[in-house]
Amino acid sequence: MKTTPGIHRLTADQQDLLLSYQDGEFGVRRETGWSLDQLTEAALYDNIERCPGCRIWCESSDLVDDDGTIDGFCCNCRPAEGGE
Ligand SMILES: [Zn+2]
Repeated sequence: MKTTPGIHRLTADQQDLLLSYQDGEFGVRRETGWSLDQLTEAALYDNIERCPGCRIWCESSDLVDDDGTIDGFCCNCRPAEGGE
């Protein structure tokens, strides 16, 4: 099987690491030697994105609010709707 230069993919273990630990990013980057840009690109391919609020990595489906609006924030950072 040929690999395409410039295409970075995460293994299942690396996806797990990224999603499970707040510093998983550093573990993955240490393993792969990738830049943050390369990691971001590879993660996005697997629908993993970083919450701009708390900087943790989440599955893209978690960055959607209850109405299905993609706001890019995880449930911890999303402003509560309608106050109390
Ligand atoms: Zn967040």
